[in-house]
Amino acid sequence: MKYISTRSKIEPITSAEAILQGLSEDGGLFVPESIPRMKLEEIESLIGMTYEQRAAAILQKFLTDYTADELAECSELAYDWFDTRAKVPLSILIRNETNTEAPVGVMELWHGPTSAFKDMALQMLPRLMSAALKKTGEQKEILILVATSGDTGKAALAGFADVPQTKIMVFYPDGGVSKIQRLQMVTQAGKNVNVTAVRGNFDDAQTGVKNIFGDEKIREELAKANVKLSSANSINWGRLVPQIVYYFSSYVEFVKEGYFKIGDPVNVAVPTGNFGNILAGYYAKKMGLPVKKLICASNINHVLTDFFQTGIYDRNRAFHKTITPSMDILISSNLERLLYHETNDIERVKNFMAELKETGKYKIDAPLKKRLDKIFYADYADEAETSSMIRRIFENFKYLVDTHTAVALSVIGKYRHDTRDMLPVIVASTASPFKFTAAVLNSLGESTQGIDDLEQLDKLSNLTNKRVPKNLASLESAKVLHENICDKEEMAARVLEFAKK
Ligand SMILES: *Cc1c(COP(=O)(O)O)cnc(C)c1O
Repeated sequence: MKYISTRSKIEPITSAEAILQGLSEDGGLFVPESIPRMKLEEIESLIGMTYEQRAAAILQKFLTDYTADELAECSELAYDWFDTRAKVPLSILIRNETNTEAPVGVMELWHGPTSAFKDMALQMLPRLMSAALKKTGEQKEILILVATSGDTGKAALAGFADVPQTKIMVFYPDGGVSKIQRLQMVTQAGKNVNVTAVRGNFDDAQTGVKNIFGDEKIREELAKANVKLSSANSINWGRLVPQIVYYFSSYVEFVKEGYFKIGDPVNVAVPTGNFGNILAGYYAKKMGLPVKKLICASNINHVLTDFFQTGIYDRNRAFHKTITPSMDILISSNLERLLYHETNDIERVKNFMAELKETGKYKIDAPLKKRLDKIFYADYADEAETSSMIRRIFENFKYLVDTHTAVALSVIGKYRHDTRDMLPVIVASTASPFKFTAAVLNSLGESTQGIDDLEQLDKLSNLTNKRVPKNLASLESAKVLHENICDKEEMAARVLEFAKK
């Protein structure tokens, strides 16, 4: 299987090359030339496998230039330090007193080292990169640069720590991340990691990183030190492909629990930001997983809801900060891959993206909209709906969800109400409720005024009788290893210094 660009005709490349390169030179995203199929018997055979074995089997369909042994090793290493043997447990919510409610399987994607779903991919990507370096004979060391507003930084650090032939450097705005987010980053161990605070805001840090990527002189100097820059961006194919696995895995877990038979249809609901997670669900459906509808859930930054409902993508609108910050996004980059697969027309995709860049909007035609209507349902939840869903789920099921998961659960309710379609639903639960403690406490009617981040963890734990994830509970006593701080003008110098170390 080879990879091509969504925007122009390029010589197809291997998956290892696509993963190392990240973005195509024409600005497009790498996509597989065709989407592999899984027969029902093959899906059924996943039932008897561990999560790691399921991952290796599905990755092999796309990463055909990797050997089975390489993928087995990548999977073992990636999910080794998850806090449950299942890796992605499925918690099934069903009301017993009535049989009008169909089950909702909550796919818990937050048992990794940072308690949020980015771990699913960011634990795998570094392993795939490291193997790709070996396969392609690349001698240079890869230096991953990240500017973070909080969560991605820690997930990337945890993923790349001590991975051979890689280094990782994370910049965060000094005073611009939560106490927990800062502690998560500055306590990160590993011989190849650097964490530096930047005097400025997130935009300063991000602009600094972008400038370094675009600076020919710095690249040359790094090349002399045998170092090549790369990013761990969510548009990298190596981040997308591990996300396809859990849709298959959760489907067969649902079957294993006896709720339906192999081959029976389900719906899938995803709290969506950059359109990566739900796109992985789309690939699973195209591969043959019996998914009827993909339910795309947004918060009040509902660019995607409007796109699916009207056929117009328009980012020209007010931006809202919400209690679901990981979905506060107005440009969903991975949508480009969907447009490519549903049109097979690089000219059209290129034009859509050019229009988006120039005017902030584009419109798809009626036949394409009709195709998407068959696959997707889209709606959004506002802040009050999200909060009330957290409370209701806790009251009804004694089950605690984070704000992002609550958005998806609200939209499932709207979908079922609109369509009367009562198929079982698999919902992507993208963060531990302890990752968004204040909003969850407030939703349960508790005040957080004057209570420190770390104390809030205990408060939520005592209130709900749920355990604080170990990685968060241990932060208070963890050793601070990184106290670097710099001005934004100094970032490039710090990168060179670290690269040469
Ligand atoms: C990143 C993230 C999302 C959005 O996922 P996309 O792949 O960007 O659509 C949702 N919830 C949480 C908690 C996240 O961290």
